[in-house]
Amino acid sequence: MPEQEYPVLTQIDAINAYQECTLTHPYTCGRNSLHALLIGKEKDGKAIMACPDCDFEQEIDREIVEPYVNGGMKEAMEVWAKRVGMADSKTQEWIDRIKWYQP
Ligand SMILES: [Zn+2]
Repeated sequence: MPEQEYPVLTQIDAINAYQECTLTHPYTCGRNSLHALLIGKEKDGKAIMACPDCDFEQEIDREIVEPYVNGGMKEAMEVWAKRVGMADSKTQEWIDRIKWYQP
Protein backbone atom coordinates (compact mmCIF):
# COMPACT_ATOMS: atom_id res chain seq x y z
CA MET A 1 0.00 0.00 0.00
CA PRO A 2 1.56 3.34 -0.96
CA GLU A 3 2.25 5.59 2.00
CA GLN A 4 -0.07 8.34 0.86
CA GLU A 5 -3.06 6.01 1.17
CA TYR A 6 -2.73 6.16 4.93
CA PRO A 7 -4.76 9.00 6.39
CA VAL A 8 -2.71 12.12 7.16
CA LEU A 9 -3.61 11.99 10.85
CA THR A 10 -2.55 8.34 11.06
CA GLN A 11 0.83 9.23 9.57
CA ILE A 12 1.22 12.13 12.01
CA ASP A 13 0.36 9.88 14.96
CA ALA A 14 2.86 7.33 13.68
CA ILE A 15 5.67 9.84 13.54
CA ASN A 16 4.88 11.32 16.90
CA ALA A 17 4.69 7.84 18.50
CA TYR A 18 8.01 6.96 16.91
CA GLN A 19 9.64 10.20 18.03
CA GLU A 20 8.29 9.74 21.57
CA CYS A 21 9.82 6.28 21.72
CA THR A 22 13.20 6.63 23.43
CA LEU A 23 14.03 3.02 22.47
CA THR A 24 14.45 4.00 18.81
CA HIS A 25 16.71 6.54 17.18
CA PRO A 26 14.54 9.61 16.61
CA TYR A 27 14.62 11.84 13.55
CA THR A 28 16.50 15.07 14.15
CA CYS A 29 16.79 18.38 12.35
CA GLY A 30 18.85 18.20 9.16
CA ARG A 31 20.31 21.65 9.80
CA ASN A 32 21.13 21.59 13.50
CA SER A 33 21.13 18.42 15.59
CA LEU A 34 20.74 20.52 18.75
CA HIS A 35 17.23 21.53 17.66
CA ALA A 36 14.21 19.75 19.13
CA LEU A 37 13.25 16.41 17.57
CA LEU A 38 11.21 16.53 14.39
CA ILE A 39 7.44 16.37 14.83
CA GLY A 40 4.70 15.14 12.54
CA LYS A 41 2.41 17.79 11.11
CA GLU A 42 0.10 18.48 8.22
CA LYS A 43 1.18 20.70 5.34
CA ASP A 44 -0.86 21.22 2.18
CA GLY A 45 -2.90 18.11 2.91
CA LYS A 46 0.16 15.90 3.37
CA ALA A 47 1.82 14.59 6.51
CA ILE A 48 5.43 15.70 6.91
CA MET A 49 8.12 15.81 9.58
CA ALA A 50 9.17 19.28 10.65
CA CYS A 51 11.66 20.87 13.03
CA PRO A 52 9.95 22.92 15.76
CA ASP A 53 12.96 25.27 15.92
CA CYS A 54 13.54 26.16 12.26
CA ASP A 55 11.91 25.60 8.86
CA PHE A 56 13.59 22.25 8.17
CA GLU A 57 11.13 19.71 6.82
CA GLN A 58 11.37 16.24 5.39
CA GLU A 59 9.09 13.61 3.96
CA ILE A 60 7.77 10.90 6.19
CA ASP A 61 9.61 7.62 6.00
CA ARG A 62 7.09 4.90 5.25
CA GLU A 63 9.15 2.55 7.41
CA ILE A 64 7.75 4.44 10.37
CA VAL A 65 4.14 4.41 9.31
CA GLU A 66 3.75 0.78 8.29
CA PRO A 67 4.86 -0.90 11.53
CA TYR A 68 2.76 1.60 13.43
CA VAL A 69 -0.34 0.73 11.42
CA ASN A 70 0.11 -3.03 11.71
CA GLY A 71 1.07 -2.98 15.39
CA GLY A 72 4.60 -4.19 14.73
CA MET A 73 6.23 -1.22 16.38
CA LYS A 74 4.51 -1.80 19.71
CA GLU A 75 5.39 -5.46 19.58
CA ALA A 76 8.99 -4.65 18.70
CA MET A 77 9.24 -2.29 21.66
CA GLU A 78 7.88 -4.92 24.03
CA VAL A 79 10.37 -7.51 22.72
CA TRP A 80 13.19 -4.98 23.03
CA ALA A 81 12.22 -4.08 26.61
CA LYS A 82 12.35 -7.77 27.57
CA ARG A 83 15.70 -8.30 25.87
CA VAL A 84 17.41 -5.47 27.74
CA GLY A 85 15.73 -6.33 31.03
CA MET A 86 13.44 -3.31 31.08
CA ALA A 87 10.17 -5.21 30.86
CA ASP A 88 8.90 -3.73 34.10
CA SER A 89 5.55 -2.14 34.81
CA LYS A 90 6.92 1.37 34.31
CA THR A 91 8.13 0.61 30.79
CA GLN A 92 4.89 -1.20 29.93
CA GLU A 93 2.87 1.75 31.24
CA TRP A 94 4.86 4.04 29.01
CA ILE A 95 4.43 1.79 25.95
CA ASP A 96 0.70 1.59 26.60
CA ARG A 97 0.42 5.36 26.94
CA ILE A 98 1.48 5.93 23.32
CA LYS A 99 -1.57 6.40 21.16
CA TRP A 100 -1.16 3.29 19.01
CA TYR A 101 -3.13 3.01 15.83
CA GLN A 102 -6.33 1.00 16.16
CA PRO A 103 -7.62 -0.22 12.79
ZN1 LIG B 1 15.90 22.80 12.98
